[in-house]
Amino acid sequence: MEYEPVIGLEVHAQLLTQSKIFCGCSTAFGLSPNSLTCPVCTGQPGSLPVLNKKAVEFAIRLGLATSCRIAPYSLFARKNYFYPDLPKGYQISMYEFPLAVEGFVDIAADGQKKRIKLIRIHLEEDAGKLKHGETAENAGFSYVDFNRTGVPLVEIVSGPDLRSPQEAGDYLRKLRSILQYLEISTANMEEGNFRCDANVSVRPKGQKEFGTRAELKNMNSFRFVEKAIDYEIKRQIALLKEGDEVVQETRLWDVGQGITVSMRGKEEAHDYRYFPDPDLVPIRIDDSWIEAIRKALPELPEAKRKRFVDAYGIPEYDAEILTSTKALAHYYEESVRLFPEPKVVSNWIMGDLLRELKRDEKEIDQCRVSPGHLAEMLGMIREGTISGKIAKDVFEEMYRTGERPEKIVKDKGWVQILDKGAIEKAIEKAMEANPQQVEDYRKGRDKLFGFFVGEVMKETRGKANPKLVNELLKERLKK
Ligand SMILES: [Zn+2]
Repeated sequence: MEYEPVIGLEVHAQLLTQSKIFCGCSTAFGLSPNSLTCPVCTGQPGSLPVLNKKAVEFAIRLGLATSCRIAPYSLFARKNYFYPDLPKGYQISMYEFPLAVEGFVDIAADGQKKRIKLIRIHLEEDAGKLKHGETAENAGFSYVDFNRTGVPLVEIVSGPDLRSPQEAGDYLRKLRSILQYLEISTANMEEGNFRCDANVSVRPKGQKEFGTRAELKNMNSFRFVEKAIDYEIKRQIALLKEGDEVVQETRLWDVGQGITVSMRGKEEAHDYRYFPDPDLVPIRIDDSWIEAIRKALPELPEAKRKRFVDAYGIPEYDAEILTSTKALAHYYEESVRLFPEPKVVSNWIMGDLLRELKRDEKEIDQCRVSPGHLAEMLGMIREGTISGKIAKDVFEEMYRTGERPEKIVKDKGWVQILDKGAIEKAIEKAMEANPQQVEDYRKGRDKLFGFFVGEVMKETRGKANPKLVNELLKERLKK
């Protein structure tokens, strides 16, 4: 029997507000533990929460950008559970009345557009962070840092529309890019401000009912999300094939072993005894506010992609990649402004630049090659100062050192040979060394021409101007 996976994702993204969601404490990262706390976020008796308007605005921005309906009425609820990082004994979240509902995100799955439904987007507060003794003197102790307690989060719940680990990864990347375009979250998974839980089940292909699902947690990179889901799908299919059942539970991704392990039985919503938070009034959002936010929305990935195709005449494929992050799109536009040949720029960015970054697992804003340097190098190719082949080495050097291309070429002596005499000399040498090939070529084996080009290039260490080599070689081989 063939099985089909069904995947839904719950994403938590930290919002980039200055202060926490229900108090005036700063959301700054990396300060000494418990220095950013007050009676409200540590849940002292008698303290009262006050809603941060910016957090609501950011969530509306996200709702609009994902085509959600913004609820005219939403309500905070208490989600009750005990954990040492939760000083109040409950988390303020939303339950029956979320802020935004029924949106979607489009992804490109196997080159085809696929629409992933969003069930809801709601606001909630983050919990604190537990630190378990890591050094010799504090081994065996656990510490709690409440600086993160009360930092605003949006929770984004997708429909069970994803059908492969790859699609889940594509969806997450798209969502991250939207959050970054909107400038409402850094959405950095490694730093923990973009977190993802996955609901995974499998069912016989063609069956309508869903299978029993497991919830996966603790995946802190895109790669781990895809790996964990992939493992979980295989695990569940193996169980069903053996005639066993999948148990509804929460499972943790174990990075070291590359497997998911059972953590606890899955809670049902009623375990949390949700009820409306009596300290917070319902939120009523009027249309004029929504419209003002809609008008101020920045250009989003979809719109930018279309504009890149129209304005720069580059293929859809290029535009899709170049707009995948706001920073990369900016890098491209800046480079094209300095060197107005859009496809040439696109080829270098999508080829050499992204390849180097991917190898080093770096982002574009960590790249040492500035748009100015890239444009300068492309100018040197156009003017014939360096060949396209040498440019590859120049680029690598720029990427490694952050130096200007002009300096690199000068220091390394990589200036292209445009001197006819020097090229002719190399041609003579190549012909002398390969008399048989010369004879064969003259008898009609045209294919050998490429061989001679290669020999001349080798002789000049790649520095000869290819156009001149072609011209002179054709001329000389005739005789
Ligand atoms: Zn506080």
